[in-house]
Amino acid sequence: MIALLKNAECYCPHYSGPKDILIAEDKIESIDPVGRWENCPFLDRIIDCDGLKAFPGLIDQHVHIVGGGGEQGFASRIGDIAADDIFLSGVTTLVGLLGFDSCTKDPANLFAKARSLQETGLTAYLYSGSYAFPMASLTQSILRDLILVDEVIGVGEVAIADHRSSQPSVSELAELASAVHAGGMIGGKAGVVHIHLGEGKRGLGLLRDVLDQTDLPMEMFVPTHVNRQRELFTQAMEYCKVGGNIDLTAGETHGIPVPDAVETLVNSGMDLSRVTVSSDSNGSIPTGGVGKIQELFDDIRGCILEKGIRPETAFRFVTENVAKILKLYPRKGTLRAGADADIAVLDCGYHLRKLFCRGRQTVEDGHVVRSEE
Ligand code: ZN
Repeated sequence: MIALLKNAECYCPHYSGPKDILIAEDKIESIDPVGRWENCPFLDRIIDCDGLKAFPGLIDQHVHIVGGGGEQGFASRIGDIAADDIFLSGVTTLVGLLGFDSCTKDPANLFAKARSLQETGLTAYLYSGSYAFPMASLTQSILRDLILVDEVIGVGEVAIADHRSSQPSVSELAELASAVHAGGMIGGKAGVVHIHLGEGKRGLGLLRDVLDQTDLPMEMFVPTHVNRQRELFTQAMEYCKVGGNIDLTAGETHGIPVPDAVETLVNSGMDLSRVTVSSDSNGSIPTGGVGKIQELFDDIRGCILEKGIRPETAFRFVTENVAKILKLYPRKGTLRAGADADIAVLDCGYHLRKLFCRGRQTVEDGHVVRSEE
C-alpha cells in the first residue's frame, strides 16, 4: 500500500510546516513539499489532511498491559488492556510491564499480550521483572531475557522508596543493573532499569547511592512517578540537571499534574531532552479505579492548551525523548524518511482524528477502524 497524507502541518516533532507524507507499507518513504506527488500513478490512497497536524505516534513506556492492581486482594486485580483504547490515545509504541503482583501475573502472560498487540499494528516492547526481587523473568535470567527475547528492552518497574518494594540494598540494585547493562550491550538494546518511586522517605536516595558507588551509566536508569510529591519532584529536577532521565506520570492529581510539572521544567530553562511522560495505565490508582491510557494524550494536550507550551516541545516528552532513551530513535519518535509510519493526525483543537500504526490506519475521524492487512 502506497498512501499519501496530503497537506498535513508537520511536527517531526520539530515544526516543519505543511508537507505531504508518503507512506510505503510500514515506513515513511519521504516527506515533501505539498503537491510533489499530486499526479503520481502509484498512489493507492490519498488522505486529505487539510487543516490537520501530523505528529509522531506517542510512545508510552509504562503500560500494565496485562493489568496491575491486586493490592486490595483478588477482587482488585485488573484485566488486560484493549488495543482500541491504545489506538484512541494516539499511542503507537508501548512498553508493557508487571507491577506489584508478579505471582498471579507473570512474564509469559506479558509476552503473549505484547505479541497479540503487535498483530494489531502496534509496536510492543517489554520490561522483565516487576516490583520485587528476585526479578521475574522469561528465561530464569534477566541477562538471557535481554539477549534472547526481541521484545525485552529492560527491567521494571523495580520499586524503591515504597513499603511495597523488596527494600533492595545498594548491592542488590547494582547487581540487577549490571545484568541489564550487559544484556543490553550484547542484545543491542537500551538495557533500561525502569524504577518505580513510591512515597518513601529517601526518594531517589538509593539510586543516587548506586550511581555514586558503581560505574554504571546514569542514562540506563529511568525513575518514574517523580511528580507524585513536591519534594520528590524537586529532587528529580536536580537529578535531571546532572544528567539523569526523569519520567512523569500522567493523570496525577494528588501530586503535581503533568501540565504544571512541565510548565515548571520549561520555565527553569533546563535541558528537557531527558524528560519523558508515561501513562502508568491499566494499573490501580491510589484513589481507586483504573489508570487510563488516554490520560497521557490528555496531559500533553493540557500542556499545550492550558499552559501555552509549544506543541513541538510538549510532544517531545512522549515521542523523540522516549525513543532516544529507549534507543528506538530514529525508527520511532520522529517523522522522517525511513522511520516507521507511526503517525498521529490531530485537528486544530488537538483532538486525535487519525492514527497510523506502522502504516496501518487504526483511527479515522476519532473512531477505531479495522483496515485490511
Ligand atoms: Zn509504579
